[in-house]
Amino acid sequence: MNLEKLIRPSIWKLKPYSCARDEFKGEASVYLDANENPYNSPYNRYPDPLQWILKEKIAKLKNVRPEQIMIGNGSDEPIDLVFRIFCEPKEDNVVAMEPTYGMYQVCAGINNVEYRKVLLNDDFSLDADCLLQATDEHTKLIFLCSPNNPTGNLLNRAEMQKIVENFDGIVIIDEAYIDFSSEKSWLEDLDKYPNIIVLQTFSKAWGLASVRCGLAFASPEIIGFFNKVKYPYNVNLLTQRFVSEQINQVEQKNEWIKTLLKQREYLRKELEKIPWVEKIYPSDANFLLVKVSDANAVYRYLVEKSIIVRNRNSVSLCWNCLRITVGTKEENETLIKVMSDKL
Ligand SMILES: *Cc1c(COP(=O)(O)O)cnc(C)c1O
Repeated sequence: MNLEKLIRPSIWKLKPYSCARDEFKGEASVYLDANENPYNSPYNRYPDPLQWILKEKIAKLKNVRPEQIMIGNGSDEPIDLVFRIFCEPKEDNVVAMEPTYGMYQVCAGINNVEYRKVLLNDDFSLDADCLLQATDEHTKLIFLCSPNNPTGNLLNRAEMQKIVENFDGIVIIDEAYIDFSSEKSWLEDLDKYPNIIVLQTFSKAWGLASVRCGLAFASPEIIGFFNKVKYPYNVNLLTQRFVSEQINQVEQKNEWIKTLLKQREYLRKELEKIPWVEKIYPSDANFLLVKVSDANAVYRYLVEKSIIVRNRNSVSLCWNCLRITVGTKEENETLIKVMSDKL
């Protein structure tokens, strides 16, 4: 892979902003270099722009090297940054499967980059050849999301591998829901494939959506470009410290996953009994995609009963589908009771 051919020329040449925390690293007794207020410690100081303490912990947790990690303000930050690093507006394009996570298309739009959609098969499986055929010499990125949102299914690994091995650009593999799946992560193949970027997040299995902490894993060369383009202090001190602490509670996270998977099967079993539920798709995530006879009517009915699900009726291949997140036992029982009451 020739990274120089893939990176936008202006980004390749960019001399990044050098902040005070970059220029002097190490311990000193008097800091008069960053125009900080000397009072109100520790919040008066700018945080580590590269978040090394947190990266060391994540590296151990995920069995990667700290230089292979970029930490963002949610995974939405690295999704936006890949456009700004790789795609020349109005010139380059990206290819993604459809339906999938909506942020890829939004970020393409914001960056004025053509977004090419390739429909998944009817069972939401991936056809690698169709995606590869949609690429041309201006295609810089392919987005794969596995398990996929909103469909819930894992993509076939051999099909994904075909794309990774045959595409000349960067393949972004979004693993936001990987903790709910029995499939192994692509992180294990990070050293083997210098053209992949794996996205994970603390927002789902770790129960930390509000702290905004997302992860991109890639070769140290690609991570270097993320570091060049991101805001210098993109992850604040509170988030860095809090996520570091939360990583110590890995058993708690694993318990939640076990409970949610059990509850997902409870929901499936109970939903199957409801006559106007037409289909429940297989799920490797913490939600179920459910086809009903009239999604808009069911959605409105549930809102009336103070239960909010996601109406995916207008999404390709998801006609009359609702996306239902797995909640607590009590929440799921409430949902089933309310749904069973609707004729
Ligand atoms: C929820 C989700 C994310 C996570 O986004 P954050 O910005 O990290 O909260 C990423 N990708 C997909 C497919 C998701 O569903």
